[in-house]
Amino acid sequence: MTHHNPHDPHAASIVKAADRVLIQERGPGVPEGIYGAECMSCEALSPPSGDDSLPVAVWAVQHSQDHPEQTLFLARTERHWRVVPRADAPPPTAPSGPGPVGPAFVGLMCLLTALSGLLPALTS
Ligand SMILES: [Zn+2]
Repeated sequence: MTHHNPHDPHAASIVKAADRVLIQERGPGVPEGIYGAECMSCEALSPPSGDDSLPVAVWAVQHSQDHPEQTLFLARTERHWRVVPRADAPPPTAPSGPGPVGPAFVGLMCLLTALSGLLPALTS
């Protein structure tokens, strides 16, 4: 029961951040799901089973046969996730600076202030 398409990994993207995307890991040897079950009565764990839930189901039935009063199980399906850089990620931007009042602007203001202080002296 494998329907995944290894040529389109971003079809499994789960969350996209600014420059990263979380995808479900897929590819050769990577199970679509890892199945497992836990007995809710004695916390016995089934062996994990990749891509096939049937061995886990068989384990649960056998466990219940061995312990007839234990009939409730927590079934799990686990997957591998991977965070990768976004293919269309924008280039990293510098953190927002002091804004339009940069050092050059402040320097210009100081120069103008100095000139205005000189002006009366020049015109007198
Ligand atoms: Zn049990």
